Parts: sequence; structure tokens; C-alpha cells
Amino acid sequence: MLTDTFGRVHSDLRISLTDHCNIRCFYCMPEAGAEYAPLRSQLTFEQILRFIAAAVPLGIDKIRLTGGEPLLRPKLPQLVEKLAGQQGIRDLALTTNAVLLANHAKPLFDAGLRRLNIHLDTLDRERFAQITRRDELPRVLAGIDAALDVGYPVIKLNAVAIKGLTEPDVISLVRYGRERNIEVRFIEFMPLDGRSLWSLDRVLTADDMIAMLAEEFGPLTAVPDADPRAPATEYQFADGSRVGFIASVSRPFCLNCNRLRLTSDGKLRYCLFAREETDICHLLDDEPGLQEAIRSTVRQKWAGHEINRPTFLPPERAMYSIGG
Ligand code: SAM
Ligand code: SF4
Repeated sequence: MLTDTFGRVHSDLRISLTDHCNIRCFYCMPEAGAEYAPLRSQLTFEQILRFIAAAVPLGIDKIRLTGGEPLLRPKLPQLVEKLAGQQGIRDLALTTNAVLLANHAKPLFDAGLRRLNIHLDTLDRERFAQITRRDELPRVLAGIDAALDVGYPVIKLNAVAIKGLTEPDVISLVRYGRERNIEVRFIEFMPLDGRSLWSLDRVLTADDMIAMLAEEFGPLTAVPDADPRAPATEYQFADGSRVGFIASVSRPFCLNCNRLRLTSDGKLRYCLFAREETDICHLLDDEPGLQEAIRSTVRQKWAGHEINRPTFLPPERAMYSIGG
């Protein structure tokens, strides 16, 4: 088992398939001048599968494919098919901005994908363009419709919540989700923009949003954690529909963290905010060496991020380059 020095057992692996993206969310990526890893250093599907073959016997049983934008990766259904059939993986999910989902929803479903997390911060076309610097809301909404038509059993919406910007979206996104039986999860804005745009007073907190939602839809009750290690805290409305909050800043959940991250260029990280990472590229032909590198990365893991301390230093890589 991948147990760290605080007794946390790691079973969840986030794999970034690319650091490129087709939109430019300001809290994740610069508008211009993004620094990409050279394409030749991008892990191939075969290398990713070798990494997973080494990680599964150590206890990894949950995989999320992410990026950058994972749907930019050619032939993605081929990787999904292999992962969906991989023994020992009990949970496979994909996080996407849905710009390309209208064309990809069916091939990915046919390859065995059943869980989708779709990133959408606003239903307002102008604000979408302001946040993402691209006018792609119609394609995102078409992508969500396509995923609903294909019949994915689990679709969740991820919305980054930013004070002074996305307040009007809290109610409208939850209404949109409730009408479609999609759970919305609000993610507190984290310092991962790589350019120091973040500040504590720009974080729209879970408590702020719970108060806004209760006023509009009536009281919310906290749902007991089905999995205490999952990052989202869930609340339920009177009709049984749910909303989630990933309150990394106002209610850090590091003490329950069971996640590792593999960047698209083969660096293993024990935390989004880690300031060090393990290069595993040269170990892909050496399973025992690779397994030891995974174990030792887990052993290095700290108690948690220190966003709320004055000594906090954001990571050198921005979110698009780490993998969300
Ligand atoms: N492109 C895909 C997408 O947007 O879903 C996958 C990668 S993206 C980096 C993964 C998630 O990171 C997104 O759902 C977005 O909500 C979240 N994210 C990015 N930057 C963030 C930040 N600074 N604070 C909080 N969440 C962030
Ligand atoms: Fe692209 Fe996702 Fe980052 Fe937005 S959050 S820029 S969609 S990688």
C-alpha cells in the first residue's frame, strides 16, 4: 500500500494527458506565452499504461484523466478502452472543458468511459469569454447535451468560484444542473494561475455559496461523506438533488488526501502545490525501480498545503501544466 508518513493511504491517480488547451481560463493558464513541455517528452499511451501497471499492485484503483484539455489528445478512446479493461481499476473518470465533447462523447462511452466531470463556470456567454478568453460557450453546452444523450450515468459540473465575478452563476448553474440531473460542484479559486493573480479576498467560499443557495432554493443539509477522502463536501436540497463544494481554501481537506498526480511529461507529484516532483521517465522499463519511485514520492508527502499561511509559496508550474 502507498502509505505516507501521516498514515494516508494513496489510491487515486490523476493523469495529465497534455498541457495544451483550447481555451485560456485566466486562473489556470496565461492568455499568451504558455510554457509547454516539449512534445517529445509527452508520455505515450504505452508509457502511461506501463506506469499504471506498476501503480495498480501498489493500491492505485482510481484514475482520472485530465490536462490541459484531454480531448485534444489524438486517439483518446484507445487509451480509455485499455484503462476501462484494466484489472484493479475500479473507477475511471475524465475531466474536460467539453469544447470538443459533442464529437467525443459517444466514442469515449463506447470505449468504456462512464464518469465525466465537465468544467463550466458560467452560463453567461460574455462572462464565459471573459474567464476563458474564448467564445466557446455554445460548443460547451452542445457537448453537455451530447453527453446526456449518450447516457453517461455520472456527469458532474465543476465550476471555479471567484469573488466579485461568478456570484451570479451560483444560482443559475445549480438550476441548470437540477433540471438535468447533473450535480454541480463549486471549486474555490486556488493560487495555481502561475502569475500571482490569486488573493484570499478573491475566493468565493463554500459558506458564501451555501448562504446564496439556501436563500434561493431553501435549506441545504450536509450529506454524510460516502468517501471521506473525496475532496467534495456534498449538500442536499429538500427535493434530494445535491450540490458539492471543493473548499480547498476555506476548509482544507489535506488530512484526508489520497491523491497523486502524473504530469504529461512524466513527473510524479504528491500535491498540486508541491514544490518538488519525481521524474519517472527513465524508470518506465524498470518496474521495481518505478514502484520504489512511487513509494518514495508518497513518503515525501507533506501534511498539507499552506495556502492560508503568510509563508505559502505557489508552485512554479501553473494548473494547466500540472494537471487538474
Ligand atoms: N481542461 C479540463 C477542465 O478544465 O476540466 C481539465 C484540466 S483543468 C486544469 C481541471 C480543473 O481544474 C478544472 O475543472 C478547473 O475547474 C480546475 N482549476 C483550474 N485552475 C484552477 C484554480 N486556479 N483554482 C481552482 N480550480 C482550478
Ligand atoms: Fe484549459 Fe481546463 Fe485550464 Fe481552463 S481549467 S485553461 S479548460 S486546462
